[in-house]
Order: sequence, then C-alpha cells, then structure tokens
Amino acid sequence: MKKIAVYGATGSVGSQALDVVRRCRGLLEVELLSCCSRLQELAAAANEFRPPRLVVTGENVNREDLLTALDYEPRIFWGEQALTDSLTGLPADLVLNAVSGIAGLPLLAACLEAHVPTALSNKESIVAGADVIRTLWEQTGTPLYPVDSEHAAIYECLGDSFDASEAAVLWLTASGGPFLDVPADQMAHASREEALAHPTWNMGPKITVDSATMANKGLEVIEARYLFGMEPDQIRIVIQPGSLVHSMVQFRDTTVLAQIGLPDMRVPIERALLGRDAGEKPVGRPLDFWEVGSIGFRRPDLGKFPCIALAYEALREKETAVFNAADDEAVALFLAGRIELGAIPELIERALAEFRGEVPSSVEEIMRLDSAVRTFTRSLA
Ligand code: NDP
Ligand code: MG
Repeated sequence: MKKIAVYGATGSVGSQALDVVRRCRGLLEVELLSCCSRLQELAAAANEFRPPRLVVTGENVNREDLLTALDYEPRIFWGEQALTDSLTGLPADLVLNAVSGIAGLPLLAACLEAHVPTALSNKESIVAGADVIRTLWEQTGTPLYPVDSEHAAIYECLGDSFDASEAAVLWLTASGGPFLDVPADQMAHASREEALAHPTWNMGPKITVDSATMANKGLEVIEARYLFGMEPDQIRIVIQPGSLVHSMVQFRDTTVLAQIGLPDMRVPIERALLGRDAGEKPVGRPLDFWEVGSIGFRRPDLGKFPCIALAYEALREKETAVFNAADDEAVALFLAGRIELGAIPELIERALAEFRGEVPSSVEEIMRLDSAVRTFTRSLA
C-alpha cells in the first residue's frame, strides 16, 4: 500500500486521481485530502476514502458545513497556512500537488525541503519557482513525477528520467484549443462559454482558458525548461489537433520517440502515483490505430496566439513568475466578464514590461512579486 496525500482533491486532476485510487484498490491509501472552499465535494470524498487528515484553505468558509457533512472525525487543518502545516508528521509516501495557481509553490517548496516525493500537476509552481525551485530540487534530490500530460510523456520517452542530455529537441504537442480554426479577430471577442469549450480535454476553468489562448502551452514550455533543463530554443510547440500524441523527444541521432494514446488525464496521474506498478486493469482505454486513420501536425500561428511568444520572452528575461501571475490574473478578469479574451496577451505584455529586471531569489520574494504583478494587472482592467 502506497500512502498518498491529494492536495486539490476537489478539482479536475484531484477528482481524477481519486478515480485512479478507486480503480487501484489495494495499491493506494489516502492519508490527506484538501480543497479551497468546495466543502461538500471534500466531505463526499472524505467519507468515501476516510483519510485521517483534511485541509481547507479558503478563509470565508462555514466550518460547520464540513463538520456536519462528515460521518467520521478526521483532523482538519484550516486556513492559508494549512497546506504546508499539514505536511508536518504526515505519513505519506507521495504527495499529489494538484492545487491550482500560485498556492502550489509554497507547497512544492515544502515538499522538496521535507524530502516528500511529489507527483506534480501544479505547473505554476515550476513556472513561477523557476531557478529557485530547480536549485532546491537539485539540492534536496527529492523525487518528482510529472503529471502534466506533455511532461509525463517526455519523462517516459526519456526512460522515466529527467536527463535530456541525449535529446536535441523536446516537441510539446498542443491541441490548438477551441479557436484553432477561428479567425483571430473573432477569437478576441469570444465568450466565456466558447473559451471554456475545449475540444479534447475536460479540465478546470483556468487551464481551459489558457488552452484557448495557448498561454497553457507557453507555461508548459517554461515547465519543460525547468524540469528537463533544456534551452528555450530546444523546446518547440507543434499542434496535433486530436491530442493523441502527448509529446515527443527528438534525439541527437535524429530518431524520435513519441508517447501516443487517447487523451485521458488519469493515465499520467496513474503513472505518477504508481510508476509501472499500476494494477492489472489500467485506467485508460487502448487506442485503436485502425480507427485513428491519420495523425496530422500543424505549426502554431504565433500571430494569432501571442501568448506563446510572450512565454518565450519571459523565459529569456527570467520573468516567468511575472508571466504566470499576469496570465492568472488576466484569466480571472476574463472569467469575471471584466475583459475580453483578446486583452489577455495585452495585459501579460504590459506586466512583463513593467516588471522587467526583477528576478526573485526566494519563494518569499516570488510570492511578493506575484502579488505585485496581480495588483498591477488588475489596475489595467
Ligand atoms: P481545478 O480548478 O479543477 O481544481 C483546483 C483544486 O485546487 C481544487 O481542489 C481547489 O479547491 C483547489 N484550490 C484552488 N485554489 C486554491 C488555493 N488558493 N489554495 C489551495 N487549494 C486551492 O484545477 P485543475 O484540476 O484543472 O488543475 C490543477 C493544477 O493542475 C493546475 O496547476 C493545472 O494547471 C494543472 N493541470 C491540470 C490539468 C487538467 O487536466 N485539469 C492538466 C495538466 C495540469 P476548490 O475545489 O475548493 O476550489
Ligand atoms: Mg498539459
């Protein structure tokens, strides 16, 4: 039995992770579940999996709602600090960091420092954490397992390793999102519903909007740079509309390894949680190549998706924390109906210009910069 803690249990990745636990009975035991404010969803999962610890980070929640919905008495950690406080004495073999947003950064740093192996879904912590997290990871040697499907695919193509020294290019695949074939001016005025209608993946709202603007692929380029240590020009984006090819590694000898399968986040989640020890019945459905026919690739349109070039710029200028915060805030403004979709890259560009040259050197400095960038970005709306 592997003991796991699921941070962000009520989200898209968290709930799919619980589905993996359900299907791998006897292999995984849940020690902790966390949410921000969706107490009923947390209580339902807690009553099913009965972890001894629960974490609720939201400040404006009615604690009674959770207590009355629970049919047992776990230890509950409340408030913003609870994510990291709950790690003390936690008897977990592995943490799944599937919280959304910058909240994942202090949690990742604490897991690395405490040598708690981590299945990492929260990409913001790598993107904003950049060299600070990379250094901490190298110093502590804490095992990480990528969950983001592209990075999980690359990790597998490298032989379950982050050593990309034999690789020439990492090809990150992208679906292209719902606006792949929509003209740029029409996309700029798209509604919330249109932006949330992803063609191949069912994910949380923030990452779904990021997929529509392709800022998500920008974040993933940065994520790949810090996970695999590749230079920015060795990381390329290619569109594969059906999301069947999850990513590819082109080696120096020109051969290419690709990881291919139906789009199902439970597959990389299961791999990150269990390695190659998954149960007899894998969670994914097998791909039938007779049905697939052809798999097409396309070059991304950088004019239509300016967030991609902005992400590379942020990487070169060591402004990845600024890119992350400005994008997160801009997406929140779009989802709240305060800006148009087309304004997201404009706000990111202005934030990158405003904070040029500010390179944080600790998690605390990143968190301060993150909040300054958010205030600035909001002021533009
Ligand atoms: P969701 O929005 O669906 O879920 C987020 C989870 O984090 C929920 O449990 C939520 O609690 C919790 N949460 C939200 N804010 C905070 C906070 N400030 N502090 C602590 N917990 C918080 O997100 P996803 O599952 O889509 O994404 C999670 C992470 O995984 C993101 O970093 C995303 O980029 C990454 N990812 C997601 C993929 C996907 O398929 N969804 C694919 C690849 C990566 P509550 O429910 O109470 O709000
Ligand atoms: Mg991804």
